[in-house]
Amino acid sequence: MTQVSDLLAALGVPASASQGGRMQLRSPIDGAPTGAIQPASEADMLAAIGRAKQAFEIWRDVPAPRRGELIRQFGDLLRQHKTELAQLVAIEAGKVSSEGLGEVQEMIDICDFAVGLSRQLHGLTIASERPGHRMMEQWLPLGVVGIISAFNFPVAVWAWNASLAIVCGNACIWKPSEKTPLTALATQALFEQALQGFEGAPAHLSQLLNGGAELGRALALDPRVALLSATGSTRMGRAVGPLVAARFGRCLLELGGNNAIIVAPSADLELAVRGILFGAYGTAGQRCTTTRRVIIHESIHDELLARLDRIRASLSIGNPLDPATLVGPLIDRAAFDAMQTALVNASEQGGSVSGGERALAQRYPEAWYAVPALVRMPAQTVVVKTETFAPILYALKYRHLDEAIALHNDVPQGLSSAIFTNDLREAERFMSASGSDCGIANVNIGTSGAEIGGAFGGEKETGGGRESGSDAWRNYMRRSTNTVNYSGALPLAQGVKFL
Ligand code: NAD
Repeated sequence: MTQVSDLLAALGVPASASQGGRMQLRSPIDGAPTGAIQPASEADMLAAIGRAKQAFEIWRDVPAPRRGELIRQFGDLLRQHKTELAQLVAIEAGKVSSEGLGEVQEMIDICDFAVGLSRQLHGLTIASERPGHRMMEQWLPLGVVGIISAFNFPVAVWAWNASLAIVCGNACIWKPSEKTPLTALATQALFEQALQGFEGAPAHLSQLLNGGAELGRALALDPRVALLSATGSTRMGRAVGPLVAARFGRCLLELGGNNAIIVAPSADLELAVRGILFGAYGTAGQRCTTTRRVIIHESIHDELLARLDRIRASLSIGNPLDPATLVGPLIDRAAFDAMQTALVNASEQGGSVSGGERALAQRYPEAWYAVPALVRMPAQTVVVKTETFAPILYALKYRHLDEAIALHNDVPQGLSSAIFTNDLREAERFMSASGSDCGIANVNIGTSGAEIGGAFGGEKETGGGRESGSDAWRNYMRRSTNTVNYSGALPLAQGVKFL
C-alpha cells in the first residue's frame, strides 16, 4: 500500500484521487488493498463528452506537426517515469516486471511513431476525368474518440489509441478497466503534465473516467462520440458494437483471441519450444495474443509435448515483482474459477490435463496463482474453441498441412497465429489466402507480443479492428474528397449534359 502511494505520488497523482472512494482496489499479487477510488457517474460521462467536444473544436485547427510535439513531450515523460509506471502495472495487473517495463516501452514506441506520423497524414492526388480540374483527398480530424480498455494491457492499449487520435486532431475520453484504475490515473497525470503550459492545447483534450461497464455504455450510446475504440472480451464487443452501429457511429473493436501455433516436421524445435511456452504461459495466459492451441505434426508430436510439459512443470510461479518469476497471478478469483471450469470441461471432452492446480495458496491466501496447464486433446472440442483467459494450452495432432490449417481456422476468433517450419512452401501457404484466417500470421515467431509498427487486430469474433502501426491512423480521421475546378467551364462528370 505504501509502495503504491509512493509510486502514485512520484507519478503525480494526488492521494485524494486514489483514496477514500467507494470502489475498493486490491493487488492480484497478494490481495492487499491498493486504494479506493470514487467511480464516475453516467452524468459525469455526459459532461465529459461535452467538454471533449469543445476541446476537439480547438485542437482540430492546430497544425498536425504541432500536435505531434505534444505527444513527443508526453513520450519524454513516459521515458522519465518508465520504472515507476511499470511497477504500478506489475502491482495492479500482476504482470512480471519485465512485461510491465515492456508495456511502458510500447507506450513510448507508439508515441515516437505518432510523432513521425504527425508530418505524414497524407492524402492522394487523383487524376480527374474533367479538363482543368484537380481531385484530391484530405484526412481531417474526426471528433471525440472514446477508448474502452481491458485490464491486461492497462495502459499500452490506451496509448495506442490516444497518441494516434491526438496527433490526428481529436479529443479523447478513456474508460479503463475497473480492475486497473490506478495505472490509468498515473498515465492521465503524466499526460496532464505534458498538456500543462503547452501553447494552443485545450484543457480536457484527454479525459479519464474510472468506473464500470455503464460508463462504457454511455460512450457507446452518445452520438457526440465519433469513434468508439473498445478493447476487451467478445462479450463486451457484442454489447457495444450494435449500440454504436445503431447511431451510425464508428467502432474499432479489439476483442478476444484463440491463437494457435502449428509446428511442422521441419521446425526448429528450440525456437518452437520457446515461442510456445512464452506465448502460452507468459502473462499467466492473460494476453489477447496468448497461444491457446498448439497443432503439432504427428512425427514430432510426442517428443515436442514431452519437452513442453517438462519445462511447463518447472516454470517459476510467484510474485511478479521478484525478477526470478516467470508466471505471475491471475487477475482475480473469477479468472481462476473460469480456468478450473475449462479444465473440468476439457477432461469431460476427452482431454488429458497436466497442471492447472492452484499455487501458492498458503503464502497468498487472498491471491489466485495457478500452475500452467497443458491439455492433450483428441479433437478440437467446444472448450478448445472458447477463449479462457488463463494459462491453458490445448495440444492437437495433425498429419497433413491442410488438416492443420483447417483445425487452425475452425474457431470463432481470428487474432494471432503462427507456424514453425523451415519449409518455404508451408510458410507461404500459411500466410496465403488459403492459409491462416487471422489478422496476424507469423512464421517462426510465436503468437504473442506484436511490434507497434504493424497494424494490430483480428478477424471474426476478434472484431475486425486494426490499431497501432501501418495505416491504422486512418481510423481516427475522416476522408474528404475534394475536386477543384480551375477551368472557365463547368463540365459535368460522366459527360452528363444539363442546362
Ligand atoms: P472485459 O470485456 O471484461 O472488459 C473490458 C472493458 O470493457 C472494461 O473497461 C469494461 O469495463 C468494459 N465493458 C465490459 N462490458 C461492457 C459493456 N457491456 N458495455 C461497455 N463497456 C463494457 O475484458 P477484460 O477481462 O478486461 O479483458 C480480457 C479480454 O480482453 C479478453 O477477451 C482479451 O482477449 C481481450 N483483449 C483483447 C485485445 C485485443 O487487442 N484484441 C487486447 C487486450 C485484451
